[in-house]
Amino acid sequence: MKTKNIAVLGSTGSIGTQTLEIIRNNKDMNVISLAARSNISLLQKQIEEFSPNVVCVFDEKKAKELRENIKGAKTKIVAGMEGLIECAIISEADIVVAAVVGMIGIKPVMEAIKAGKDIAFANKETLVTAGHIIMPMIKKYGVKLLPVDSEHAAIFQSLNGENHADIDKILLTASGGPFRGKKREELKNIQVEDALKHPNWSMGRKITIDSSTMVNKGLEVIEAKWLFNVSCDDIQVVVQPKSVIHSMVQFKDGAVIAQLGTPDMKLPIQLALTYPDRRYLPGKRLDFAELGSISFFAPDFENFPGLALAYKVGKEGGNRPTIYNAANEFAVSRFLDHKLSYPGIIEAIEASLDHVGFVQNPNVDNILETEAAVYEFLQSALA
Ligand code: NDP
Ligand code: MG
Repeated sequence: MKTKNIAVLGSTGSIGTQTLEIIRNNKDMNVISLAARSNISLLQKQIEEFSPNVVCVFDEKKAKELRENIKGAKTKIVAGMEGLIECAIISEADIVVAAVVGMIGIKPVMEAIKAGKDIAFANKETLVTAGHIIMPMIKKYGVKLLPVDSEHAAIFQSLNGENHADIDKILLTASGGPFRGKKREELKNIQVEDALKHPNWSMGRKITIDSSTMVNKGLEVIEAKWLFNVSCDDIQVVVQPKSVIHSMVQFKDGAVIAQLGTPDMKLPIQLALTYPDRRYLPGKRLDFAELGSISFFAPDFENFPGLALAYKVGKEGGNRPTIYNAANEFAVSRFLDHKLSYPGIIEAIEASLDHVGFVQNPNVDNILETEAAVYEFLQSALA
């Protein structure tokens, strides 16, 4: 295979470092650019190992510091949104791994698509808020959007060779998170440390909190709606606590096709980078005899209202998913800083949905204005 040049946005994170592990193990893959927010000590190690052409540190001060630290290296250091976009559209890149966290990914992802890059897509907040803009662009510029989120990668694999018209519904699996079975009342005193313990997956802090509130599953419902061009009503969440089935598709004749495997994000990341080929991936394989059984439950909409709210805003459309997502990003960051209670996360989403005005078909500026309005509202509401 011809060498694949890869841009990794969010290279210091959970998905980013696993992406670099795959690149390290595949001699025909090459890092062309890297981007992170502020973790320059890890970026420096990544520069030493992968010698990328360009690296963006979003934080300008930290970018300056890194520039000083790597004096003499061939790597160019850039900063801010402009720098992030430069890393995303760099002419040598064949594919961009979108693995920054949050809707900060909207602009670089859009610019990468315009520059004709395929996207290995993890950054769900971008599709939740701007899916109506991004999906038509994917078509227009003829690029591939390859899902990295494990459920969406599973759906993508289950749809291989099938006709869209034959889909009856998507069965999106969920582990239920660390608090499955708890009542709303019992969730009141959850501390950051409790919520950071996910039973099956080791991920970034924000998505781990989202998994515990089921907001992650809510975001994934909206992500699936855009990726697979179905309505929210055609997506059913199925709780399967061991995360063995990564998701399924039911077709109109009643057939259900699923993708199974041990929980390892390297599988969907590698598949996005080698698609349509598969390659050997070291790791544990499923042992069905050892597994014994797989159990299923209906989701608990009552005690985890974050999921019900996502269905609601997903159906309402416009800037409603942006309000939901921005409020969650803000509130989770406050919770992680020990400045907001655990139930305060969902309350912040509910209050923002009541407060911020509706915009029917938001363009990127409207989306970012909505985000700013939510932040402004919550800053004073939570003061
Ligand atoms: P992490 O928090 O581990 O990593 C986030 C990455 O984004 C870091 O490299 C961080 O840099 C970078 N970043 C944050 N803000 C900026 C910015 N303004 N400019 C440039 N880079 C920035 O997150 P995850 O890897 O867990 O998640 C990344 C995305 O993938 C999320 O959208 C998540 O929902 C999705 N995802 C993750 C899964 C997982 O298993 N982790 C599974 C499925 C989806 P720094 O380190 O310097 O802060
Ligand atoms: Mg997922």
